[in-house]
Amino acid sequence: MTGQFKGNFTQQEPIPEAGISAALEVLRHGRLHRYNLADDETGETAELEREFAAFTGASYALAVASGGYALATALRAIGVKSGEPVLTNAFTLAPVPGAIASLGARPVFVETTDALTVDLDHLATTAKASGARVLMLSHMRGHQPDMDRVMRCAGEHGLTVIEDCAHTMGGTWGGVVSGRHGAIACYSTQTYKHINSGEGGLLITDDAELAARATLLSGSYMLYERNGAGPSAQVFEALRDVTPNVSGRMDNLRAAILRPQLADLPAQVARWSALHDEMEAGLGNLPDLRLIDRDPGLVRVGSSFQFRLPKHAPERIADFVARCSARGVELKWFGAPRAVGFTSTYRHWAYAETPDLPQTDRIMAGLLDMRLPLTFSVDDCAQIACIIREEAER
Ligand SMILES: *Cc1c(COP(=O)(O)O)cnc(C)c1O
Repeated sequence: MTGQFKGNFTQQEPIPEAGISAALEVLRHGRLHRYNLADDETGETAELEREFAAFTGASYALAVASGGYALATALRAIGVKSGEPVLTNAFTLAPVPGAIASLGARPVFVETTDALTVDLDHLATTAKASGARVLMLSHMRGHQPDMDRVMRCAGEHGLTVIEDCAHTMGGTWGGVVSGRHGAIACYSTQTYKHINSGEGGLLITDDAELAARATLLSGSYMLYERNGAGPSAQVFEALRDVTPNVSGRMDNLRAAILRPQLADLPAQVARWSALHDEMEAGLGNLPDLRLIDRDPGLVRVGSSFQFRLPKHAPERIADFVARCSARGVELKWFGAPRAVGFTSTYRHWAYAETPDLPQTDRIMAGLLDMRLPLTFSVDDCAQIACIIREEAER
């Protein structure tokens, strides 16, 4: 009765007309570089920084070239050294361990819970055993643990926390904007995230010195006073001559596209919730299919949907994925032997030490994932859920 789903899982919405007009204006005047400004002009990038600082409530915001670049810049600003261990989730996206490795530092992976967040007991033992002083906490696919407990654990082990909020921009935990618990938070604005400039990233912090270092690192050419939400010039004095330029700025064209999308984000989050709720409603109460538990404090952004088939053997899952695909439902499986497309886990990152993490392995073996672009309607989600249900019950 449900037949074939015809939608496209990677098709995002078009850029809003306000973004297109603003982008055309930048193209017409030609000042794309963020520091190329006419007299009395603030520039789209600086305006975006102001607006993002206001949106998150952070003291400082910096716009950069990608989410992965923001993560690496956060590590550099904190002073992470080559060879140093950095704790991070075993369940995350490749740019997270990649950012750590880009400094010559060592990713140390932490076990995953059934709720797809870091296991806090394992975090404590791994923090002790590794001697790490930094935790790069990835809110992978929008899942967030009890942040009060994370911060308590981090405090006990002397860990500075960097939050990877690529999938939580627009979400909250305990009424607090995602990214406001750690020392620094990083966001991505590439096409598959919550606001879309093709590529791009944002970094926020309340720490003036970290903000100044990140700004200098991003390649401010001593023009940092033109930034939109940076610390005062005084803070830069002691840092400007000793901080390398690792160019990774955002440009005015991308910022122009992003500003109207940021203004729309709360409304978009509500639309994503409706899609995600429909998926959960359609797939609840199946004997062998597990929905992912959500921490009660979390308001998540439902831009993707995960579920587990914990009792299915690998061959059965591969077959299930193929049958769903034949009916137009594109699922990603984290239990595949090799990285496929965007989908990989710690076992696939052979440049890093990959200890045995049996709990993560068990969960990944049965974990399925799909995108929920806003080009889908609630009815589309009902149909997708129906197809998954039928194929899972076979
Ligand atoms: C997308 C993403 C990033 C950053 O990605 P970029 O492609 O570098 O912008 C970081 N962490 C997670 C979990 C992501 O999904």
